[in-house]
Amino acid sequence: MLNIILFGPPGSGKGTQSEKLIKDYHLVHLSTGNILRDEVARQTALGIEAKKLMEAGQLVPDEVVIGMIRNKIAENREAKGFIFDGFPRTTAQAEALDKLLESNDTPVSMLLALEVPEEELKQRLLKRGEIEGRTDDNETTIQNRILEYKVKTSPVADYYKAKGKLVTVPGIGSIEEIYARIRKEVDAAL
Ligand code: AMP
Repeated sequence: MLNIILFGPPGSGKGTQSEKLIKDYHLVHLSTGNILRDEVARQTALGIEAKKLMEAGQLVPDEVVIGMIRNKIAENREAKGFIFDGFPRTTAQAEALDKLLESNDTPVSMLLALEVPEEELKQRLLKRGEIEGRTDDNETTIQNRILEYKVKTSPVADYYKAKGKLVTVPGIGSIEEIYARIRKEVDAAL
């Protein structure tokens, strides 16, 4: 099984690159951001709670997203592998993911970290806000999301680095250029 964590700050291109990877490698895409936005759209109890945090640019509690991932892994027993997009975002989530995958006998293959300068992230997110209308793509929320990333999420890269699973990829250039770099790393791991 190929289990890839596509990692990086908000606006680094995780969603875009995940879409390409799932097609070429026949993997299941698990994006906690997408699952949460679906809960918000359906106005579930979870969605109503999550919406406030998402609009403030803060992380949703670990147990909520871990539960979501646990269900999705259980629903996809036949999968050839997973792309984790936007998860794990804390070391507690990373530890939980490792346990979940261990019980499936399919560890994380690699954490692919997309590296993009902060100014570029802000420009991309503001542009996406105009095009897609995501309510969390506004200047104040973007600032908070980047801060949450630095404080709570970036340690996840160190966690997998210690396990020899960190692979960094420059996340600037065209979508195709970035994807070619990612493919090279994934193919090397196969
Ligand atoms: P994303 O689409 O991945 O940028 O996620 C949008 C928002 O959903 C984030 O700013 C968080 O509020 C929330 N979220 C998504 N994934 C997670 C996660 N793994 N842990 C905590 N909060 C998350």
